[in-house]
Amino acid sequence: MTRFHKEIVTCPFCASDEEVVIWDVLDVSADPDLKERLLTKRCQVLECQNCGEESILARPLVYVDPEARLLLVWRPELAEFEETEPDTPLDGRPESLLNLPAGLDAALLPQLDGLAPAEGDAACWRLRLLSGYNALLEKIHAFGAGLDDRILEIVKLALTARYADEEDLFFEAMHLLAARGGLMLLQVLERERGWQTLEISMELYDNAYDLLIERMPAEGQWQRIDGRFARRFVTAAG
Ligand SMILES: [Zn+2]
Repeated sequence: MTRFHKEIVTCPFCASDEEVVIWDVLDVSADPDLKERLLTKRCQVLECQNCGEESILARPLVYVDPEARLLLVWRPELAEFEETEPDTPLDGRPESLLNLPAGLDAALLPQLDGLAPAEGDAACWRLRLLSGYNALLEKIHAFGAGLDDRILEIVKLALTARYADEEDLFFEAMHLLAARGGLMLLQVLERERGWQTLEISMELYDNAYDLLIERMPAEGQWQRIDGRFARRFVTAAG
């Protein structure tokens, strides 16, 4: 199921033309090594043979893990759209979960033939559309640790607000790195201090899960789950 193609890409550091492998579909049930490769940011990367520099290539990627019933789609062109996208509240319609202009959803989502959940099993699959490599890695870490990414986004939103209020720390980005031993390990970008790691008790997540999981939208449909989802959920919940 894994698919790739080769492209000639110009190195942004030295302008050398390099042949690189672009991964179109990563099926980690067939190729478990590729998961490790993705998690260490060695997929969609130009490793220049001329100058030795590395650069991440923003190319569409489908990640499929049939055992975990997980289908993640990274579409880099979504990032541009997100810059001007308004935070409209979630309204309960399935298309509200994607919140894309008409036509864009069909253009961004892959053909599911052969990737798609087996008949009868479709409702269990987590289908996610993402705009960045870090978001893709965070999803893999979160689902791997048995967390629900939607609850996680709401916890991240709450943490960001709490730190800003109580400690004057302003997080501009936050990614889950791992969850184990009763702790979540988060990587945060703080306005003044740059990248830091933050350890947070799992209790915060567990409490949010108990309170909110019944109100999360059903799985088996495409969703964009990110900071904007959390803000839209909280706005709709009043
Ligand atoms: Zn180079």
